[in-house]
Amino acid sequence: MTMENTKKKADRLGIMGGTFDPIHYGHLVAAEMARGEFQLDKVLFIPTGNPPHKDRKDILPGELRYKMVERAVQDNPAFDISALEIERKGPSYTVETLRILRRTWPEHELYFITGTDALREIFSWREYEEILTLIQFIGAARPGFEAGEFLLKVQQEHPEIEGRIHHLEVPALAISSTDIRSRVRNGQPIRYLLPDPVRVFIEQHGLYASEFKDF
Ligand code: NAP
Repeated sequence: MTMENTKKKADRLGIMGGTFDPIHYGHLVAAEMARGEFQLDKVLFIPTGNPPHKDRKDILPGELRYKMVERAVQDNPAFDISALEIERKGPSYTVETLRILRRTWPEHELYFITGTDALREIFSWREYEEILTLIQFIGAARPGFEAGEFLLKVQQEHPEIEGRIHHLEVPALAISSTDIRSRVRNGQPIRYLLPDPVRVFIEQHGLYASEFKDF
């Protein structure tokens, strides 16, 4: 392979979408692995605003989740954060976010990174056909997660997007936000599961201490 072939053609931006309630090392490792594997110049974390698909009534307000992500990404110069979704009124549809990002970076190769679990539902997302033309996808999953069925469905039902959905195994995704919330509720330690400034923020504000919080 010549030097010419190994050179990247365009700047590449990763978009890390998630509720991040709270952000933890699994998310950070996934973003960093995606950055390395797909030669991304930057990874932009976008905490969801008002998720249209969630039953949970106790999701922390966007500003608090944003502040935790801000603390988590501060020491990585390749990571950044956007308040695009949490500042938007109404339900948080990914298609609207991606249209804005596409307009902002018309020449960039864009990769949307999220959990494979979330990505499996993409065919139920609003205007998913357009979403699939706007950006490529990286589904992050813990080892052993069976992504084969989903990828096969993509291949069979949407051959036009084959090669635009990628799978990334991330051992650190054994850590989960659900487990962290339950640990805090039960008075168990969360140190080493997430960055210390995030842990301190959770403790200082008494977050997740009870199942239903009224903010
Ligand atoms: P979720 O259903 O809460 O998460 C599903 C699984 O994926 C969980 O195991 C979760 O782990 C993991 N996960 C979530 N985000 C991740 C990330 N960035 N990296 C690695 N693992 C991740 O998913 P969600 O957070 O609500 O949504 C994920 C993204 O899909 C968001 O950007 C959301 O806006 C988008 N989405 C859009 C629509 C729509 O437009 N209609 C519908 C659904 C989702 P943790 O619980 O530990 O995070």
